[in-house]
Amino acid sequence: MSIFKDVKAISIGLWTTWKHMLRPTLTIQYPEEKRTPPPRYRARMVLTKDPDGEERCVACYLCSGACPVDCISMQAAERADGRRYAAWFRINFSRCIFCGFCAEACPTMAIQMSTDYEICERDIMELVYEKEDLLIDGCGKDPDYNFYRHSGIGVVNPRGGNPDEEPPTDPRGLMP
Ligand code: SF4
Ligand code: SF4
Repeated sequence: MSIFKDVKAISIGLWTTWKHMLRPTLTIQYPEEKRTPPPRYRARMVLTKDPDGEERCVACYLCSGACPVDCISMQAAERADGRRYAAWFRINFSRCIFCGFCAEACPTMAIQMSTDYEICERDIMELVYEKEDLLIDGCGKDPDYNFYRHSGIGVVNPRGGNPDEEPPTDPRGLMP
């Protein structure tokens, strides 16, 4: 009786093996073959520019505060016209867990996750990226968003009078 059980088990095992031998292979020969990650893939971050070609980052420290592993640091500075920027901006990717909290916290959409997953290095210090390594010459995922046209120093209209802005809500009007 146990022989039949053994034969049955071996047959099922062999059938599984044969079934998979006839299927197309899914193995990707990395690094010769590279996968294209989905657009929302969370790999290393970049710093983007707004549609006017200006740096989006206003050095508000929100990304740094949101980061659970404390791997973002910067120094805020101010231009002659009052616009803030990061004099230096540093991310230590050897600590980063690619959670995306920094990108979620950023009010200006300056910091964004990219699909660049090839950032392995032999020297751990090579994983410390400075502003010049992070800043790209483009707007990233939201090309039309321009923080300074909505709430920066250039905004002169009263609340509710700026492009894409709803008029302010009167909370007393929400009372039953
Ligand atoms: S992805 Fe997460 S861990 Fe990495 S820098 Fe942003 S907040 Fe920090
Ligand atoms: S990247 Fe965004 S959240 Fe971080 S300091 Fe700059 S503007 Fe603020």
